[in-house]
Amino acid sequence: MRALYPGSFDPLTLGHLDLIERGCGLFGEVIVAVLRNPSKSPAFPLDRRLDQICRATASLEGVEVISFDGLTVRCAEQTGADLILRGLRAMSDFEYELQIAHTNRSLASDLETVFMATSAHHSFLSSSVVKEVARFGGRIDHMVPEVVAQDLRRLFNSPMPNQ
Ligand code: ADP
Repeated sequence: MRALYPGSFDPLTLGHLDLIERGCGLFGEVIVAVLRNPSKSPAFPLDRRLDQICRATASLEGVEVISFDGLTVRCAEQTGADLILRGLRAMSDFEYELQIAHTNRSLASDLETVFMATSAHHSFLSSSVVKEVARFGGRIDHMVPEVVAQDLRRLFNSPMPNQ
């Protein structure tokens, strides 16, 4: 099966990567779809986010990385995805994710959304937390793939992780 994993990925964290890996194991194919959202101002431009994900997933079989804008259900239709994959870290994610899943189902009744629980040791991770730590020069190697860690250090001008 082909799963569509949509998100902002600004930037990709090890939590996202873990979900991609496990999604490949379960479904065979995962299309990581990076949202091009002009109303948000991302820390990393779209091209950079795509490159980060391509590099971090280079050794994984069955991963494709694309960008999209507009409706997720339309992207799923265009890519021939069988399902939408989303991650759940905590109850706080659930309410929002359920609303989106119902909305998508109302637009495309044959498209299922599958939620995967994050690995416990990644459940505290979010792209915003990672950016916040990096901004103040904290250690981020255990939170993001190496390519992202390098980009974050460059972005916040902190070449030496100190904690
Ligand atoms: P969005 O802006 O769509 O929420 P994100 O890039 O923040 O995009 O997240 C994309 C997907 O990855 C969401 O389903 C989110 O729940 C999931 N996710 C975010 N952080 C983690 C994590 N630490 N572990 C696993 N999944 C995660």
